Amino acid sequence: MSPGMTVNILVVDDRPENALAIKAVLDDPTYNVVTVSSGAEALRRVLKQEFAVILLDVLMPSMDGFETARLIFEREASRHIPIIFLTALGSDVSSIYRGYRLGAVDYLIKPIEPDIVRAKVAVFVDLFRKTQQIRLQEERLRDAERLRGEAALREREAEYEATFEKAAAGIAHVGIDGRCLRVNQKFCDILGFTRQELLQLRLGDLSHEGDVSGHANAFRHILSGAIESFRGEERFVRKDGRTAWIDLTVSLLREEGGVPKRFIVVVEDATERKHAETRQRALSHVSEALLNSLDLDATLKGLARAAVPDLADYCMVETIDPALPKRPVSVTVAHVDPEQEERLRNLRLGTSAHSEIGFAAVLATREPRLIEGVVSAKLSSADAALLSALDVRSVVTVPLKVRGTIAGAITLLSSAIGRRYGQQDLSLAEELSHRAALGIENARLYREAQDAIGVRDEFLSIASHELRTPLTPLALQLQRLMAAHGSERAAMSHEEVRTMLGRARDQVSRLSRLIDRLLDVSRISSGNLTLEFAAAELSSMAHDVVARFDAQAKDAGCALRLATTGPVVCSCDLLRMDQVLTNLVANAIKYGRGKPIEVALGTDHGSVILSVRDGGIGIPEDKQSIIFERFERATAGGGYGGLGLGLYIARRLVEAHGGAIHVTSKVDEGSTFTVEIPLQRAESVASPTVTHDVATDAPVKSRLPALNTCRSVLLIEDDADIRESIASLLEQEGYRVDTACNGREALDRLEQLGSAPDVILLDLMMPVLDGAGFRSEQEKSPAFAQIPVVVVSGDGNPLPKAKSLGAAGWLKKPFEAGELLAVVDRVCRESSAGPLHGPLH
Ligand code: ADP
Repeated sequence: MSPGMTVNILVVDDRPENALAIKAVLDDPTYNVVTVSSGAEALRRVLKQEFAVILLDVLMPSMDGFETARLIFEREASRHIPIIFLTALGSDVSSIYRGYRLGAVDYLIKPIEPDIVRAKVAVFVDLFRKTQQIRLQEERLRDAERLRGEAALREREAEYEATFEKAAAGIAHVGIDGRCLRVNQKFCDILGFTRQELLQLRLGDLSHEGDVSGHANAFRHILSGAIESFRGEERFVRKDGRTAWIDLTVSLLREEGGVPKRFIVVVEDATERKHAETRQRALSHVSEALLNSLDLDATLKGLARAAVPDLADYCMVETIDPALPKRPVSVTVAHVDPEQEERLRNLRLGTSAHSEIGFAAVLATREPRLIEGVVSAKLSSADAALLSALDVRSVVTVPLKVRGTIAGAITLLSSAIGRRYGQQDLSLAEELSHRAALGIENARLYREAQDAIGVRDEFLSIASHELRTPLTPLALQLQRLMAAHGSERAAMSHEEVRTMLGRARDQVSRLSRLIDRLLDVSRISSGNLTLEFAAAELSSMAHDVVARFDAQAKDAGCALRLATTGPVVCSCDLLRMDQVLTNLVANAIKYGRGKPIEVALGTDHGSVILSVRDGGIGIPEDKQSIIFERFERATAGGGYGGLGLGLYIARRLVEAHGGAIHVTSKVDEGSTFTVEIPLQRAESVASPTVTHDVATDAPVKSRLPALNTCRSVLLIEDDADIRESIASLLEQEGYRVDTACNGREALDRLEQLGSAPDVILLDLMMPVLDGAGFRSEQEKSPAFAQIPVVVVSGDGNPLPKAKSLGAAGWLKKPFEAGELLAVVDRVCRESSAGPLHGPLH
């Protein structure tokens, strides 16, 4: 209150004239003089207003001044108001003392002295004003203090709020009943709820079903004081249904008396770390599973198992047969509960071609397929029904790509409430598929290698059996011949010896055919099969083949007939076509059960048609296409020997001619093999002639040699037995024979000889200096270069080599005596028709 401010002054007097007189005396614009005429009225006013001083008449009817003062002083609100008693002149002094005892501060004697009244009142007014001023200042100070306190509080609160809101961790204040009372933004972000939503929930509502009881226990133990705080790695469920891994810290805030007030819950998102750990663990399990076995089935099983439960509740691995790429051939399923595996298998998940789950879903696009939430995805009713039957909520399918082609698919299915697959799971599944593809490829290669080893072993056992079969009679014939030769008693007739030698020769031919086949197969496999095309007449070739089998067919009881429509001329490798027909006729006799065999040759629409029909055992339908493959046989264990190579070689030879071979057959009724090769290059040749020239590639025909008396041969051969037998045969025929063990020795020999030999018989494979090496040395020497050479080779087809070495003729081991003599004779004649060789020195 400022010094000039209006103050209230109460005047209490039962006589209005007195009261008015005082009011007149106290005439001051800053005074508000209130007059009342009784003590009771004065008490009422005092309650309503604040007065700086009360002027109170002592003598009043009903309630005198003393009584009134006593009541005023009794009241807390008015106790401090100074009272000036008004008393009549000559009043009893004791009444004055009484007034003082009651708390009055002064006296005025009536009739009042205006100046004295004003002076006394002014003192109290001044005191009142000062008191008011002090009070006001105090109030101001208090206000200022309060305001400062409030500002500091606000600042502290703002700081706290900022700390709470901006904390890197999620923080929640949770009531003792578990209800969320306050949450910061990070807490909302981690769990994907809004603040309003969280404030409606209890913390337990956010717990993963697997961790609910763990959480509840932790809170109970903290409340009971058993533990101070709790820290752990727990699962929560985000609003979108995904599981959030949380590093959780819970502590309790208590009131001053120790009464629990609220929980402070701090959450940090550990989902990423947890996923990375899970991914690493699952991938290392997969790698382990893939390393554990090279067996394909075991690998697929191990792979599916390794994905459960870290990555999926169900894992399904489908693989396809590359030959049937439209649907999976093997489906491997894993679930922690084997009964569920059975369910998944029985539900035949993903078997529909239009399914959006499993292999069918990725076959066309070759891209992964993610169904984040099954409920929200628009799935076909079949897929939706399957997934709901399995209680699946999220699915991811990735293709298994092996060397760029789809080899199957991996499907991860999750039925956990909190697990919802996302992009990261998709990447992980792709990594999984990448590793799995490598494992599957390894297992496949291993299986193929095992199969190939099995085939090889089987082939080796069949081959050794087949090779031994002709050796046995051959050895027996030779032993008998040797025995007959060594003892008088066992002497044989000339006829018997001829028969035995004939048989021995047949066995040798059989052996050499077998070896030829093996060589052919190796040539085909290495891509070295070369054909020598020339104009050839096939009808005489067919006659030759049929004639060759005459005796064998008779032995088997088969009537072998050939039907031709006349000469058929085409450009082909005649030897190879002979080989094809030979194979077919040999098979017809072998599997023909003594029934008639018909060979037919003709032309049709620009093709040569060659067929061999028998009435034998026939071939089951499912085997008819495979018998043309390597080592494939339709009669395994049927008592028929064979390598399973004849038809394979025949097919490859026919295909090399631009043709095809096929079979029609019925079991127990017989088979017809038909060869077709194009006639495009067909030429009309009046009378094809058989020559012995390397250049024309005609077969060497056996014929008797002309008599030789003075011809000389240099035989270069490393095998002593072959050297010995060829030399003695030629000498028997009147040739002079010199020999050498290799090319180097032969060159020395030539130097030593007095005159050049008429012909050189040259083996190709020899130590020190082989046939080719010898030829190049020979060609360098003007003295020897002109000597004609006949190449002798164990190769199935020595013609190309002989040509490349510029040989005048060739022989294929084993050869018959007639063949040897015929070629040596021819070459000798031809060389003698040319310039005569002079002496070497
Ligand atoms: P091999 O006769 O040495 O086993 P091939 O390649 O010549 O080998 O024949 C393959 C298979 O085809 C034979 O094992 C046999 O099962 C079947 N086959 C071939 N020709 C006939 C035929 N004329 N009649 C019945 N089966 C045959």
